[in-house]
Amino acid sequence: MNVNQTAAWITHYNQHLQDQKDYLTSLDRKIGDGDHGINMARGFAEAAKAVEAETFETSADVLKKAAMTVMSKVGGASGPLYGTALLKMSMAAKGKDIKGDVFADMFEAAIDGIKQRGKAETGEKTMLDVWVPVLEEVKSSGFDAANVEETAQKAMEATKDLTATKGRASYLKERSKGHLDPGAVSSYYLFVSLAEALK
Ligand code: ADP
Ligand code: MG
Ligand code: MG
Repeated sequence: MNVNQTAAWITHYNQHLQDQKDYLTSLDRKIGDGDHGINMARGFAEAAKAVEAETFETSADVLKKAAMTVMSKVGGASGPLYGTALLKMSMAAKGKDIKGDVFADMFEAAIDGIKQRGKAETGEKTMLDVWVPVLEEVKSSGFDAANVEETAQKAMEATKDLTATKGRASYLKERSKGHLDPGAVSSYYLFVSLAEALK
């Protein structure tokens, strides 16, 4: 993944978030406070603008810029969590040619960061329930963008059956069951965008 593809990852992701803003918000209205689409669309509009406005030397620089922008522009749980994920990926990618195992290292670093920030584990109906299966897939079969996208989709769909024990959705306990997790859906779009950027 070269520097232009990394920038395209962020701009494609922003496009998906703008397109799905109302959908993400409607998901969050069911089990949260109804702002996930608004939070993500606002933050990544700024991140895409910041990435487009500059010429970067490396992919790590692009990811760092996006991370800093998202952290400063998005409130709620998702801003710090996505900001941390991007920053940790930037750190793992630094000085590396991004391919194969480097993707696994980046996703693992992102997951560690998300866990550290949010104190969640898998199975708690959060964005981690998409990220962790993606990492497992990359570790077991090697990085393949189409497989990553498919794994992310299945994992996102599987959050419907989970009961939330972290974040706002946990206030609903058993009643959170039967609804997709908004952050799992926005994480799925991140992996869709990655596959698009690498085409
Ligand atoms: P808020 O809940 O503050 O309104 P958002 O609606 O933007 O923030 O984001 C909600 C999403 O953030 C959830 O759907 C979930 O995927 C993710 N999330 C919330 N809390 C955590 C956590 N502790 N660890 C990991 N992800 C979390
Ligand atoms: Mg919310
Ligand atoms: Mg909120």
